[in-house]
Formats: sequence, structure tokens, C-alpha cells
Amino acid sequence: MITSARRRAALCALGALTTVLAGCSSGDPATPGRPGRPAASAPPTLAPGPAGLTPVFAHGSRTEGRTVALTFDADMTANQGARAAAGERFDHPELVATLRRLKVPATFFMTGRWAEEYPDQAKAIGRDPLFEVANHSYSHHAFTRDCYGLPTVPPERMRADVDRAFDALRKAGVERPMPYFRFPGGCYDERSLRTLAPGGVTAVQWDVVSGDAFATDADAVARQVLDGVRPGSVVVMHCTRSAAPTTERALRTIIPKLRERGFRFVKVSEQIGSKRASGARS
Ligand SMILES: [Zn+2]
Repeated sequence: MITSARRRAALCALGALTTVLAGCSSGDPATPGRPGRPAASAPPTLAPGPAGLTPVFAHGSRTEGRTVALTFDADMTANQGARAAAGERFDHPELVATLRRLKVPATFFMTGRWAEEYPDQAKAIGRDPLFEVANHSYSHHAFTRDCYGLPTVPPERMRADVDRAFDALRKAGVERPMPYFRFPGGCYDERSLRTLAPGGVTAVQWDVVSGDAFATDADAVARQVLDGVRPGSVVVMHCTRSAAPTTERALRTIIPKLRERGFRFVKVSEQIGSKRASGARS
């Protein structure tokens, strides 16, 4: 049980890189469930992709500044409550503290289930201007078939699952979750992009796999990230201590080294915003 769950979670980080990079233009920013917000304060989103599909963002501009976005997935499934009650730590406050101490902006992709388990931490992360919180589904089920052994969300329940996660984030105290969605396992297809399109989210993938899931060698994780990062990169990592025990230590290497190389840490929203702006200019 643990073995299969661990294998699944490890593989989850290795989901297929996107092949569909949405066109950039000044789309109509959408904030699900928050009608009436002034447009000026709406977070940036990408315009819909081809045929109106949910746009997919995998990395920022390669040419406009040396930005890098660290992203942290807060995975938790509906049936892991008993393990959490028995002492398994799906949270990672030390990692969050390190990001704060080193003043590193970051984007958290939180499952609704994680926010229910750790509402105080979800709220604190959500209210910290250093961070932003986005949606990683309610219970980390896959939105395609054959996604690393994850159970599958039926198409007719996909939108409800995303909405349920947004509701759980808000209920925990994340007042303004970003309208970004990370597919569990990074698995998506045309059907899932079409199904989620009316919700107005931008799907966020990555271009650098940290390999931090169940890693035992922090240096290897740091090396993999440092070898992979290019200007505009989005790095996928995890903020679940039991599933990513070396990530915090790896960060203490990664962060100063990338700063030495002239990289600036940003949130995904900044990369999406500048991509949208450059698309609008061209
Ligand atoms: Zn995940």
C-alpha cells in the first residue's frame, strides 16, 4: 500500500511535459467564483488556447529577464486522513519557513484535501504576500486515464472537482486563490482541457522536474534543478514532508546558487503576466 502510494507519488512528479503552449495575448482575466472583482485586480491568465481549450503554461519568457518560479505541490488524497492522524506529515512548515527566511516568492499548488487537513497553514501561506496559492484538484485524482496509476476523475465530475478544491481553499482562509490549475501527475488531454475551459483557469505545468519525490539525496535534487533551470523556468517540487524529505535541504543549495547566476525568483503569476503583456505587444 505504502509502496504503491509512494511509487505513484514519485511518478506524479514526472508527468509529461506540456506540448501545448498556449498562445499569449491579453485574454479576459477570469477569477472563478469571484464575480464583481475589479478587472484591474484580477490575476493574469492566458487567453484560451486553440478552439477555446484551457490554456497551458509551462514556462515564462526565455528572453525577458532571468526569472525562475519555484512551485510546490501540496498533494493529499481523500483517504490519507488516517495516515495523517497516525502521525504522517503531509505538511512541511520548515520548508515554508526557509522560503520566508530567504525571501523567496513561490507558488503553491494545493489540493483541497490538504487545505482541509492543514487549514491554519493553508491560510497563512495564502495570506503571505510572498506566496500565492493555486489549485491542484480536490483529492489528487487524475484527469486522464493511465496517469501513473492515479484513480481517475470521470469527465462529468472534473469541473466539480476543481470547484470543490477552490471552495476548500477559500474555506481554509485562502481568500484569493489564483485561477491556475495543476493537473495531478501533470496528465491532461484535449478532453480535460475542453471540460475545464468554462472555468477560466490556466493550466500550469513546468519545464524543470526536481525529482524530489521520495528522494534521499538532497544534493542530487539540487543538481538536477540547477542543471535544468533556464530563464523563465518553472520548477516542480513538493511541500509534503513525508513524500519529499530532502526538498528543504536542497532548497538551501538551490536558492543561493541560482541567485549567484543572476536569477530572480518570481511567482507564476508574474511569468504569466509578462507573457501575456509581451503577447499583447507583438
Ligand atoms: Zn501532485
